[in-house]
Amino acid sequence: MEKTVMNAHTSPRTRVVQEINPFKMAQAQFDRVADLMGLSEDARQILRWPLREFRFQIPVRMDDGRIRVFFGYRVQHNDARGPAKGGIRFHAAETLDTIRALAMWMTWKTAVVDLPLGGGKGGVAVDPASLSRRELEALCRGWIDQIWRNIGPRIDVPAPDVGTTPQMMGWMMDEYSKLIGQYTPGVITGKPVGGGGSPGRAEATGFGVVYQIREAMKRLGMNPSQATASIQGFGNVGQHVALAFTEILGGKVVSVAYWDREDRTARTITHPDGIDPRFLISITDIYGTIDKQKAQAAGYLVEDGLAWLSKPVDVLIPAALEGQITEHTVHLIHPKVRILAEGANGPTTPEADRVLQERGVMVIPDFLCNAGGVVVSYFEGVQNEMNYYWSREEVLQRLDQHLTRSFHEVFRLAEEEHLYPRDAAYILAIQRVVRAMEMRGWI
Ligand code: NAD
Repeated sequence: MEKTVMNAHTSPRTRVVQEINPFKMAQAQFDRVADLMGLSEDARQILRWPLREFRFQIPVRMDDGRIRVFFGYRVQHNDARGPAKGGIRFHAAETLDTIRALAMWMTWKTAVVDLPLGGGKGGVAVDPASLSRRELEALCRGWIDQIWRNIGPRIDVPAPDVGTTPQMMGWMMDEYSKLIGQYTPGVITGKPVGGGGSPGRAEATGFGVVYQIREAMKRLGMNPSQATASIQGFGNVGQHVALAFTEILGGKVVSVAYWDREDRTARTITHPDGIDPRFLISITDIYGTIDKQKAQAAGYLVEDGLAWLSKPVDVLIPAALEGQITEHTVHLIHPKVRILAEGANGPTTPEADRVLQERGVMVIPDFLCNAGGVVVSYFEGVQNEMNYYWSREEVLQRLDQHLTRSFHEVFRLAEEEHLYPRDAAYILAIQRVVRAMEMRGWI
């Protein structure tokens, strides 16, 4: 299937419009490492494609009384190591190929941080901000109504992603529990705290990115309190990265980029003295759109959507969508940048990877860098099973330990074998999945 993601930056400075197929990108990354490892043809055949894919219609009665039909998806890429695991994305440009790529990356993500889980992903082609609260609830319940037979705590456990929130996970958990006739919090993670959610889940992905930046800085001999960063995306991940980078590391975030829904373009909000994350969060809606008038009134500069990429900072953190750092945009990255921490899934194309590798930028690859969310999702499932909940401090401490260990495993292998960190992460992950498939007799 030929699928495209329109990645359009309209800016006074540059206009880059490109079409990227994330699934082809995910397969190209996999093929490259499979060659490098000399992976058997048997394993390749299973891992190049998802095990199962579902595409369904979700009819929703809208507030005006009419029925609107949405396309919903769930893809289970691999479950050799445990139940499939991965988020649900509500995005207007959602397609089967984006979900396939995201599901495949989830398999590598759970494996690289050694969780007993597989990889899956789901979604709906919809702009959630265009629906009323009642319509959104009906859409969430409708998604479950179509797929409930094929998910479950021991089958496949969804979670939030771009465009979905803890409240939506709460509605979905409720719908599933009603359908099977018993309270089943473990069917979905990222639920609200007090409604079966884990303390620390909301901040887990962003904080996890920053814990790994801290470890990367140790390896590079950098001082975190002198460090500067620029972030793309100011939703769940971007906001928590900004908070942790300033409040835990003591560094300075100079700019954040976001998608301006009103103007249908990306923008960068900058403050030369460093942004105040708590102030910016207070003027941002639940979909990560910043109120630029309020930002300007408070002395912030509003720049074009690519400006975040060319800032003279130590750390760049893409935390928006896939396909942002490409052969066309990679050259905008300032020579000062030493670390690229991929908060988003698939932000860097293989062509851009080659340039970053030549320039010696330390890349913390996406499925390792943003694994904090799935680690705490796993903790959430464990707590749901026990019906006993840990404190936020305990969750974040366990998260830090888990990610720090995984980070050094990957970078030790990269150093010992002279590998690009993304390849090292892939090798560790693929080896673990292949071992599980062998133990189960699949290959
Ligand atoms: P979100 O919907 O909460 O926020 C997305 C942000 O990106 C918003 O601020 C939006 O304005 C911005 N954005 C969208 N398109 C943009 C563009 N072209 N230029 C600049 N900004 C743009 O989503 P999220 O949950 O923060 O997820 C962000 C990324 O992190 C995604 O790639 C997602 O798959 C990945 N991720 C999320 C989690 C999680 O726990 N939420 C876990 C792992 C990975």
